[in-house]
Amino acid sequence: MPHTVPKLNAFPVFMRVEGKAVAIVGGGEEALAKARLIGQSSAVLRIIARDAEPELLTFIARSGATRVAAPYEASHLQGAVMVFAASGDEKLDSRVAADARRLGIPVNAVDRPELCDFFTPALVNRAPVAIAIGTEGAGPVLAQMLRTRIDRMLSPSLGSLATLAAALRGAAETLLPKGNARRRFWIDFFTGAPARAVEAGELSQAHDAAVDLMLSKVHAPGHIALVGAGPGAEDLLTLRAHRLLMEADVIVHDALVPEPVVAMGRRDAERLAVGKRKGCHSKSQAEINALLVELGREGKRVVRLKSGDPLVFGRAGEEMAALRDAGIAYEVVPGVTAAFAAAADFELPLTLRGVSSSMVFTTGHDLKGNSLPDWAKLAISGATVAVYMGRSVAAEVASRLIEAGLSADTAVAVVENASLANRRRFHGTLADLPSLEARTDLAGPVMTIIGDAVAGANFERSEPLAAHRHKGATAVAAEGVQS
Ligand code: SAH
Repeated sequence: MPHTVPKLNAFPVFMRVEGKAVAIVGGGEEALAKARLIGQSSAVLRIIARDAEPELLTFIARSGATRVAAPYEASHLQGAVMVFAASGDEKLDSRVAADARRLGIPVNAVDRPELCDFFTPALVNRAPVAIAIGTEGAGPVLAQMLRTRIDRMLSPSLGSLATLAAALRGAAETLLPKGNARRRFWIDFFTGAPARAVEAGELSQAHDAAVDLMLSKVHAPGHIALVGAGPGAEDLLTLRAHRLLMEADVIVHDALVPEPVVAMGRRDAERLAVGKRKGCHSKSQAEINALLVELGREGKRVVRLKSGDPLVFGRAGEEMAALRDAGIAYEVVPGVTAAFAAAADFELPLTLRGVSSSMVFTTGHDLKGNSLPDWAKLAISGATVAVYMGRSVAAEVASRLIEAGLSADTAVAVVENASLANRRRFHGTLADLPSLEARTDLAGPVMTIIGDAVAGANFERSEPLAAHRHKGATAVAAEGVQS
């Protein structure tokens, strides 16, 4: 059976009663109970009771309720916004309910749910804050239990704090920009110095603390966090990254950060995709820098979400320089870089005792010139090489490394979509690497790891790269078998 949330048959609302008449018909215990309940509001109680018990009389005298000391008549209900039939006499209560309905006034008849237009809740009262508990007939015991539990959770001074908040709302709305600044003010107000002062009974001190707090938020400076989103899996985000995402006004993210990771941010944060995928830069780096500076100047809390680690091939250097020049505060939150995720997927030791004791993060894009970059020499001396953005230059990387003296048999591991459920793993040698370029089935990001340490990886779940060698090479091999 499909799971559905049951519907409420009675929907709670808060009705305005200030200065309005509420009629209670009855002179006994039931009437007194309702009078006490409604007496917690600023409604004007009208108690219609020819005979009233002493306790009710005392209540009337103390509360300033009015009493109609005459036999009940429908006209007694005139002008009331609510009616309680609480006489303890079934016949009379039915009559009262029928009269109220005729007059268009909502009615509650004690212990007669079939006659009720509304039910009264168990109430936790911290005026102006009210918590109303309804059970639709599951019983007053349950309602009272819940009431007690909630009551214990809430400070007795909550009402005073809420009153102070109401008094400051207008000022907060004029002074603080909508969004994070205002939200933070209220969070600090309800949890910080103003709340503590109210708790201690120091109301004027609380007011001053609230005003100080508000002024401190008026010119709240913007802040940019350059945050590493990790390789793609949601649970490879750091706790710090998650916290900042939950506090962000704006999330500026690259195309490489998967949607579910971006979705982990605060629900009403603004989301700006700034593209940057090979071949389709939707914004230039200069435009992104300018955007971050602008958001910072507006006082926004920004998460600049980058795949992997922000400081690895993320152009964070340029963004940080722009922020520094503009005097905007920023911080960097590290993330799991693609090389580490790919190595984990392959159970590949990036450093291996006696085999490899250094590692290179590179892109294959600097191999075009005549001289070999330094990292090629490191590769030859045994470093493990992680190649970012290397798919389209795989042949160049392989041929230049072989040319430089690295054995064509050097082990190579390739992971597409590292850390994600749809990841694919390939293994082979440097000689097989050029086949990557020709593959059109690899649509996700690809990490290539080269080096002798790769031989220590687990190849049980990977496909051989060689199976996809250049068509020409396969044809030659096949001919070789035939002859
Ligand atoms: N800052 C990122 C790298 C951005 S450059 C990081 O630290 O990981 C983009 C390149 O990262 C891609 O071309 C690819 O080589 C690599 N990459 C990013 N995510 C990847 C993933 N899930 N699997 C494999 N490679 C990935």
